[in-house]
Amino acid sequence: MNIFRPYYKEVFAKFSDRWGGVSNPPYHELNLALHVEDNPIDVLKNREILAKKFDFYIENLIFMEQTHSDNIKIINDTFTNKQVNCDGIITNKPNIPLMVMVADCIPVLLYDRVKKVISAVHAGRNGTFKQISKKAVTIMKEEFGSNPEDIVVSLGPSIHSCCYEVGEDLADIAIKSFGEKYVAKRDGSFYLDLQTLNLDQLVSVGVKEENIEISPTCTSCDKNYFSYRRDGVTGRFAGVIKLHG
Ligand SMILES: [Zn+2]
Repeated sequence: MNIFRPYYKEVFAKFSDRWGGVSNPPYHELNLALHVEDNPIDVLKNREILAKKFDFYIENLIFMEQTHSDNIKIINDTFTNKQVNCDGIITNKPNIPLMVMVADCIPVLLYDRVKKVISAVHAGRNGTFKQISKKAVTIMKEEFGSNPEDIVVSLGPSIHSCCYEVGEDLADIAIKSFGEKYVAKRDGSFYLDLQTLNLDQLVSVGVKEENIEISPTCTSCDKNYFSYRRDGVTGRFAGVIKLHG
């Protein structure tokens, strides 16, 4: 995962994995989410560990109470809350790390290399059906004057169509709303391809395909990541993006 680097030294963008934290099973080790009934003291310690590892000030961290919506908020100077109720955050302010937490959903990090605007988006099934990644680009255009051609995007580790089985009802919705290419049928079961769906939505709003990187890692296959589908009660890893000061 290095679409942002080494090309853009003014931005940090990275995904964590599940290792190097203090949480006990089933949240071991680096669970970053407070809402999954892990010990909050361990979670806060894990966030400090992440801050050190990713080199940001923990006091500046903005994270989301994610609700599978398509709500996106802009973080500006007047902003005081650390936790925002939404599924996408955008800022052009330096030294404010934006964090999206996931365990199968796609953590999407966006960067406008000309206008110096960053975004972190939570794109699970609902968010993807509501086209939240595309909406983030639209807001970057409208509020910051971004040209989508200048935006680079990284889709982090997430559940892929090898494992993401859905019921026929959801498969039908995906096919009717977006097309057959996003649903694979194997042995009478349906599998959704959220990554290609996000890719095509981003391209449809003007982002260049060569500026979109998709992690080949499937969280359900790779035990270095938390997976809700595989493990049920589990932790969350994160994507973090920050403009350097
Ligand atoms: Zn898989």
